[in-house]
Amino acid sequence: MNKFEQLGLNESLLLAIKDLGFENPSEVQEKAIPVLLEQNTDLVALAQTGTGKTAAFGFPLIQKIDAEDRSTQALILSPTRELCLQITNEIKQYSKYIKGLHTVAVYGGASITEQAREIKRGAQIIVATPGRMQDMINRGLVNIKNINFCILDEADEMLNMGFYEDIVSILSDTPDEKNTWLFSATMPAEVARIAKKFMHDPAEVTVGSKNSGSKTVSHEFYLVNARDRYEALKRLADANPDIFSVVFCRTKRDTQAVAEKLIEDGYSAAALHGDLSQAQRDGVMKAFRGRQIQMLVATDVAARGIDVDNITHVVNYQLPDEIETYNHRSGRTGRAGRLGTSIVIITKSEIRKINAIEKIIQQKFEEKTIPSGIEICEIQLLHLANKIKDTEVDHEIDNYLPAINEVLDGLSKEELIKKMVSVEFNRFIAYYKKKRDLSGEKGGDRERSSEPREIRAGDPVRYFVNIGARDDFDWMQLKDFLKETLDLGRDDVFKVDVKEGFSFFNTDGEHTEKVMSVLNGFDLNGRRINVEISKNDGGGNSSRRDHNGRSGGGRREGGFRGERSSSPRGGGAFGPRSESRGESRSSDRGPRREGGFTRGSAPRGESSERAPRNERRSDSAPRRSDSSAPRERRPRRS
Ligand code: ADP
Ligand code: MG
Repeated sequence: MNKFEQLGLNESLLLAIKDLGFENPSEVQEKAIPVLLEQNTDLVALAQTGTGKTAAFGFPLIQKIDAEDRSTQALILSPTRELCLQITNEIKQYSKYIKGLHTVAVYGGASITEQAREIKRGAQIIVATPGRMQDMINRGLVNIKNINFCILDEADEMLNMGFYEDIVSILSDTPDEKNTWLFSATMPAEVARIAKKFMHDPAEVTVGSKNSGSKTVSHEFYLVNARDRYEALKRLADANPDIFSVVFCRTKRDTQAVAEKLIEDGYSAAALHGDLSQAQRDGVMKAFRGRQIQMLVATDVAARGIDVDNITHVVNYQLPDEIETYNHRSGRTGRAGRLGTSIVIITKSEIRKINAIEKIIQQKFEEKTIPSGIEICEIQLLHLANKIKDTEVDHEIDNYLPAINEVLDGLSKEELIKKMVSVEFNRFIAYYKKKRDLSGEKGGDRERSSEPREIRAGDPVRYFVNIGARDDFDWMQLKDFLKETLDLGRDDVFKVDVKEGFSFFNTDGEHTEKVMSVLNGFDLNGRRINVEISKNDGGGNSSRRDHNGRSGGGRREGGFRGERSSSPRGGGAFGPRSESRGESRSSDRGPRREGGFTRGSAPRGESSERAPRNERRSDSAPRRSDSSAPRERRPRRS
């Protein structure tokens, strides 16, 4: 007796299985099929992608359908149109020897009336995406009030894509007596919630080990001081030169601000959030898919359903308000059996959230420290060496070689290597040489007197901001603007002191992180706000008075965060401020890029960059293109 026969499948299915060439049932089929055939039960089945789940529910379902009755008896919900069509196709093949059994696919982007007509003609099985199904129900085009079976396929993905409400609503339109079969690769909290809410004492089938998050994702957190959040992000990017990531922020504004800062600092980044037009979003996603963007900074809503493979890192720049959302974020990486890392940048006050997330994902976080400048330099150096090794030579260059040889004549191979590497690398060394470590609570190198003091909740913090009377603010208006922009309460902004081209104000230390992240880079009618923490914590600051606000620049040289405007990535190495100050460009504060190998010059080095050797990347297109990182600084209005 054939193995499928042993499971209890009938003749017409066995014939179809033979045609399909399936010889032995897979593990999930072996476990699920007999249970579903023999009992009228709910079922939760967990098995990885590609383990044959469609047949695991498809075979018993087909056997249990009454093909003589033309009414709708089963609803299969699946996350995407592609899966929906794939399942429909499989079910049709499985049931090809059963006369009168009809399966209809219902999904968005095709005629809803045509789909409704097909159902009317008699379809016992409907395979649908939740969105379109909900539409059909709302329009009264389908009746699922008498179905016997509801199957939630790829339940985790459906929930990942934000279909929770649709699913709940669709299920509430089905009879209580039906059987619900839930198939999923993972069992995150939301899936468990659905199971608990809509299933009665379900049978359980688990293939491989039970885990909630994807096993292929490792979770790390980095404890930093609130003010170091952005710097930490940059370092993580620098320490992972091949990073291909989604960076999650909580709000649209933060998303935009972080992306802009990254771009300004020379990273290939872009923002994805709901304030962009559909066309803009499509453009960003296209560039991301094409690897022209390495860091996609996104809100949770906008990143829903991002189905880009090979994402190496998910970065929680800020944790989501609802910790359950963490699962959705980290699920963007580690797909299709590849490895991925989910990183959380966190401050001390948020640390308990890590424990809560660990409970949900049933996985432990590893606490890590932000790499030091030396470590980053080592990584970058090795990366550069590999890049040189892997660069394919365009023989156009032969024409120029005689002239180049003439210049370089007399250098030994060793000298040449040293110099070539230094061209690209000096800026990293120079940049990181003077940076302290960022290991939040672990201390770090704080001996520099110019370094800021620790900011604590409860302490007032005074800020310097580059907007003032010239921007039509008096103290009341500025206070209102700050309260509104920062979403703070009536008394949260105080000691507002407006000067001509700049101002001061105070908040409690608990708001400092928000002040810095929201205000810095904020676009005030074309002008970018720059805010710094004043060393003085109240009542004016005479040392500031010599900032006469010329062109609103007023950024202190060497003062707190003064070095922030520079970045080893180069593109924006010289921030707009230093230029507007008209200061010497030969200052060593920004790692300048002078040579032809650097990104700051044209043609940029990246155009010759090959796809990394890392086998996780299969495409050979350059990941970054010059056009993708808008390096041009926005002209300042003054
Ligand atoms: P999952 O839903 O678990 O990701 P699918 O149901 O899509 O997996 O099946 C993956 C592939 O394996 C399909 O091409 C399917 O036809 C095939 N398959 C399923 N069951 C068997 C089997 N018993 N023997 C051989 N191939 C199978
Ligand atoms: Mg499947």
